[in-house]
Amino acid sequence: MKSDPIPRPVRAEFLKSAQGIGDSVEESLSEVVFLGRSNVGKSSTINLLANRKNLAKSSATPGKTRLINFFDVGYKWGEEDYTVRFVDLPGFGYAKVSKSMKEIWQKNLVEFIRKRIAIRLFIHLRDARHPHAKIDEEVERYIREFLRPDQRYLTVFTKADKLNQKERGALLRDFPGAILISNTKKSGQERIHREIFRAIFGAEF
Ligand code: GDP
Repeated sequence: MKSDPIPRPVRAEFLKSAQGIGDSVEESLSEVVFLGRSNVGKSSTINLLANRKNLAKSSATPGKTRLINFFDVGYKWGEEDYTVRFVDLPGFGYAKVSKSMKEIWQKNLVEFIRKRIAIRLFIHLRDARHPHAKIDEEVERYIREFLRPDQRYLTVFTKADKLNQKERGALLRDFPGAILISNTKKSGQERIHREIFRAIFGAEF
């Protein structure tokens, strides 16, 4: 039994930005991939999870938006230290109509998410106010099609602070297993830490 109920982030480090699988960092650690529409709150969520103000830059930062960004996050859980690699994928567009994956992601990104062995968990960030956005449904269907048995898929709704309690309950009924978070209220991150540890280290809570 661990004395700490929740793994705590204690260190975080930016490693590099890459164009695709070819210039990515070595696959020396298990990876958690963060994906979502532009402006969903992906940078804020990564910063909240890593407990760092400016680790991931917001999509407003020019130049960073088309690249894959790698971070190592060090955790303490009980007496032990763990490191998890966070992978921040470029945000995808706002398209309401059905689009092919080629239009949603460039070829290099499709290759990355399909072929990268180190990926153990996909965290799909979705806006709690637009839970049925077509593009998110398509991305989920697409990734589930090639999800390996050693990979998990987690839906996280951001901006939960914009919903009232009744709406939050309805959303969780629609999406069992999803997690609601608020970056402004800094709530919900513990459940994500647990899911990361379940997926990567087989932890039980
Ligand atoms: P990204 O483009 O997905 O990286 O999104 P950002 O993290 O840059 O966030 C986009 C905007 O949404 C910013 O104005 C954030 O302050 C805001 N935002 C992010 N997360 C939340 C949240 O949980 N609640 C609210 N109310 N706003 C949020």
